[in-house]
Amino acid sequence: MIEGELRIAVLDGDGIGPEVVPVAVRAADRALTARGVAVRWDRLPFGRAAIDSHGAPIPEQTLDALEGYDLMVVGPHDSASYPGEHRSAPAPGAILRKRFGLYANLRPARAIPGVAATAPDIDLLIVRENSEGLYADRNMAVGSGEFMPTPDVALAVGLVTRQASERIAERAFELARTRRGHVTVVHKANVLRLTTGLFRDACLDVARRYPDVTVDQQHVDAMAALLVRRPADFDVVVTENLFGDILSDLAAELSGSLGLASSINCSDTRVMAQAVHGAAPDIAGRGVADPIAMLHSVASALQWYGLRHDDARPTEAGAALRQAVAETVASGIGTPDLGGTSTTAEFGERVVSVL
Ligand code: ATP
Repeated sequence: MIEGELRIAVLDGDGIGPEVVPVAVRAADRALTARGVAVRWDRLPFGRAAIDSHGAPIPEQTLDALEGYDLMVVGPHDSASYPGEHRSAPAPGAILRKRFGLYANLRPARAIPGVAATAPDIDLLIVRENSEGLYADRNMAVGSGEFMPTPDVALAVGLVTRQASERIAERAFELARTRRGHVTVVHKANVLRLTTGLFRDACLDVARRYPDVTVDQQHVDAMAALLVRRPADFDVVVTENLFGDILSDLAAELSGSLGLASSINCSDTRVMAQAVHGAAPDIAGRGVADPIAMLHSVASALQWYGLRHDDARPTEAGAALRQAVAETVASGIGTPDLGGTSTTAEFGERVVSVL
């Protein structure tokens, strides 16, 4: 059970972040307080604004302060727009994932009734290993993991360990038990034999400890095709970092729009809500961004927290948020990416009034 206040840190971020994050915060506050959970929301410096005020997109004091919070709600960052040296520094999201050991990135893809979707029957969960793999910036204590010996030669380091692969596989198999009981292991072991081969073998070893969960495996290229051809056949998909990033955008688009794609990053003790989409500079400042991805990300984080702390209230608040989003969409309200004419704020207002 939660004792005292639930402390939630809010990092608005760049681009559409300051538009969609406050919508999710307001709705989640309503859902939590309605269930008797006292919440303290604190905004911390982050992103382009923090460069101006504190000299870094993720200032040390923000990182230190985050240690004292129960949950983190994080908006997108637009590193490409940062000045000078900040542009080539590790992305703020990567710093957060590393600092707090957020090794699992959970990205569900499910169509929302009333939203046009290429795959209306898709309902899957991508469990993405988030701490190593082919993403060079995540696998080094110092340095970026990319090298340029000459201006015309570039190299990147990929890292796969049995420990991290088994750890993510365990989360995938546990989650499959709460869903339809099937895991698909995605790799490219026919080419990247040692690295993604080790990932595959570690996952299949873990599978033996979950005899009640069925398992199959796919090469990532075949998986891309199968996701389009028969998306409803997949339940939990476990894969390494880069493959998970790409497949989750594909799954999100099949389920409707990138603006719907939610995600949480977690360790065994900490959780961070962060939508899959970026800062969307092309629409930022116009008040038309779709807040659903952020709303669903916060809903997932609350559900994760409630289960971990044996308190039904945050779990129920998360479910209520999802239900309120579904009812809002069903009532014909939607932002332009869904073919609607509503603003971000109007969508948020309706979600809060449904709650
Ligand atoms: P990043 O590399 O930072 O993840 P990205 O290249 O994936 O960013 P996004 O910023 O996610 O790009 O934007 C991709 C496209 O999706 C843009 O056209 C953007 O306007 C659109 N988009 C992203 N998020 C939303 C949203 N919440 N609502 C509406 N459209 C969105």
